[in-house]
Amino acid sequence: MAKAIQAIRGMNDCLPSETNVWQMVEAVLRRVASNYGFAEIRMPIVESTALFKRSIGEVTDIVEKEMYSFDDRNGDSLTLRPEGTASCVRAGNQHGLLYNQEQRLWYMGPMFRHERPQKGRYRQFHQFGLEAFGIATPDIDAEVILLTYRLWRELGINEFVTLELNSLGSNEERANYRDALVEFLTAREELLDEDSKRRMHTNPLRVLDSKNPQVQEALVGAPKLSDYFGEESQQHFDSLCARLDAAGVKYVLNDRLVRGLDYYNRTVFEWVTTSLGAQGTVCAGGRYDGLVEQLGGKATPAFGFALGIERLVLMLTELDKVTNVRAQVDAYVVILGDDAQITANALAEQWRDQVPNIRLQCHCGGGNMKKQLKRADKSGAQIALILGDNEIVEQQVMVKYLRGQQEQQNLAFEQIPSLLTALIEDF
Ligand code: ATP
Ligand code: MG
Repeated sequence: MAKAIQAIRGMNDCLPSETNVWQMVEAVLRRVASNYGFAEIRMPIVESTALFKRSIGEVTDIVEKEMYSFDDRNGDSLTLRPEGTASCVRAGNQHGLLYNQEQRLWYMGPMFRHERPQKGRYRQFHQFGLEAFGIATPDIDAEVILLTYRLWRELGINEFVTLELNSLGSNEERANYRDALVEFLTAREELLDEDSKRRMHTNPLRVLDSKNPQVQEALVGAPKLSDYFGEESQQHFDSLCARLDAAGVKYVLNDRLVRGLDYYNRTVFEWVTTSLGAQGTVCAGGRYDGLVEQLGGKATPAFGFALGIERLVLMLTELDKVTNVRAQVDAYVVILGDDAQITANALAEQWRDQVPNIRLQCHCGGGNMKKQLKRADKSGAQIALILGDNEIVEQQVMVKYLRGQQEQQNLAFEQIPSLLTALIEDF
């Protein structure tokens, strides 16, 4: 037997038993995004490597060690996108969507990072991202964070996530702070790990983001970025906090929160959970007023976030919050006898015309009642519609309830559409 070829490590199949949860999550994401006036944008999965180097930053985990980059047949360096914001800005610039206008956009799809695969961390994973362009005021920061909060409520996980909030100030404020931080870190250099020592010179704020507990220890007493804020940055942040307070959204201020990508300024936030072990960040984002210009557009303020769909699906599954997920099949047509064989498909077509949203599966391949009912049960259907030659003569269907205690009953053909409609009224 030939050796079977396996999927690439860290790149997962999503099997039919899981896709219904994914579809439920995706439907909530889509609906809530459009409820807030955001429109979908779809970008290519492959972009020029330069796009990510220039936006995410050369001295970041993603660009230093996680990108899937390759030379194509023309010798151009291409990269499987590790995130969506850079592509979204590139597309916005390229099509003139950003200059002097407001855009509220969302996207969803696979991202690629060469990381060590573990629970909640994969090499191909899926993000839902959302970006608002053209608005400099903190009202949009609040609006987008409120949108994320609504997502958790809709998915039933709001009690299991915490909002962490910080401000990175303006570029100038951050530059002043950087000097003070480098001075502090230099005095403690022997306590830092290799990564942090290197970053201390290339990108010192990233040291604050280190996941090494020893480095975090060494940072106790470090100067605070907020001490370097001017009035505008302080006001922006205070106004955001006031809006969240007014809307009843709780948050934790975390002055170590700097995010792993270089393009952020002012507001940054993460929704974290303790339900997923080490991979605790479900959703992360913030303001990136400099990026559009940095990628060749006209200066345009922007605010956005991305969330990891795998981590949401994991959370929902582990917290047993997978509810109201519709089975692949609502009703299963059992067909017995020659006359029934001939007419069953035509009848099913009528019911599908009358109840367009019904998931109706006709048994194919013959077999006795027992075999067909077994299939019906396995399909997840709530009812079996049994058609034998007698039923065809009487113009009726025997309805067998596959879940719960309800007695089977005979219904006339014309009663079937309202039965099917009632079956799916919750979906
Ligand atoms: P982490 O700190 O977990 O590495 P990150 O800061 O690299 O996350 P972002 O680039 O902000 O993550 O991506 C936003 C979200 O995408 C994360 O909060 C997470 O939910 C998800 N995510 C990021 N990397 C992965 C991955 N390798 N596998 C699965 N989900 C991921
Ligand atoms: Mg990461």
